[in-house]
Amino acid sequence: MTEVEIAGATHRELLGCTGMPQLKRSELHGLARDPSGFNFQWRVALRQILGERAGVLVETHHGMTDAEMLHSVVVDDVIVQWNDGVLGARATVAQFLLEHTKTPAPLWHANERVVFTRQANNEDPVWAVEYDDPYFVSEATGGDGTIVVYGGRVLDNHTYYHETAHNAATQMWGSVVPPRQTEFHTLLKVDNTTGRVANAVSVYGQNNATEAWAEAVAEAFSGGTIIGTSVKDPKHPQLQAARRQLKLKEL
Ligand SMILES: [Zn+2]
Repeated sequence: MTEVEIAGATHRELLGCTGMPQLKRSELHGLARDPSGFNFQWRVALRQILGERAGVLVETHHGMTDAEMLHSVVVDDVIVQWNDGVLGARATVAQFLLEHTKTPAPLWHANERVVFTRQANNEDPVWAVEYDDPYFVSEATGGDGTIVVYGGRVLDNHTYYHETAHNAATQMWGSVVPPRQTEFHTLLKVDNTTGRVANAVSVYGQNNATEAWAEAVAEAFSGGTIIGTSVKDPKHPQLQAARRQLKLKEL
């Protein structure tokens, strides 16, 4: 195997001594944007790095039923794990990492861990009742600092920011529910009986204040990809408030 230089170091040097490959988003960014055509070679190198260590048996995180053999990499202190037996898993992780080289630090560090499991969410039957949708299937869940992505799926930007928002809420407020006194919550029209939010930025966000928050953050950072009553105006009050709650500059 040929050694490929990454930001002056060979990828073996970047492996570090903790047992998991260590990567820096700043290095990934420089190479992800390289217009010389090295981009493709870099992706190949990145996939090599991702395969450097054998998988380890990882305990279950929310929604997972069984422990699972997962490969790991640490990227700016966030542990990213995936099932290397899933077809295209390394490409999925490589794509995810290259997408987030410039994601603002408060959002990147809202997560301690991102797990790409091949398992389905074992709480799907509960949500199927809650949301009155017999075909409900979770793409991902968050809230305790970990994002779990189910069923060998990719993690699209909207879902990433949505689950990151749940983790950021827990980090900031000790709860996934935005507290009533926060600027964000005061903007919501909440039905006191049902808890539903009439003016959430998406249909899914109307379920409750927790999801209204996650959808506002997702909308603010993923650039209007929500299906439904999506808000396209980046200056929308809820999106601006979400940025301020996260201590990020408003637009
Ligand atoms: Zn959610």
